[in-house]
Amino acid sequence: MRQLSASAYRPDISTPLHAMRRRRRMADIIDRASEQAERERLACIERQSAAASRSAVPSGVLDCVDCDEPIPAQRRARVPGATRCVDCESAAEQHAAHFAR
Ligand SMILES: [Zn+2]
Repeated sequence: MRQLSASAYRPDISTPLHAMRRRRRMADIIDRASEQAERERLACIERQSAAASRSAVPSGVLDCVDCDEPIPAQRRARVPGATRCVDCESAAEQHAAHFAR
């Protein structure tokens, strides 16, 4: 008499229906993983932009902090967060370089 192995009692998981369900489960897992990754990516961007807006100089800074002259729009565009006009910035840098020695 032929002996049936234990595996003979298990459903055959290679039938088309099972394969389809397995693919669907895999697709669900991948979808959930993608959604989770997207949520984490958005949360990360949110945290970074929140941190950036905390550390950034307020956008209302239009005048040089040293001489109160307006900082030219071209400079503000080229150097985001600039708080001094070109003259005061170079003076401040020379001052800093002098006292760094
Ligand atoms: Zn200035």
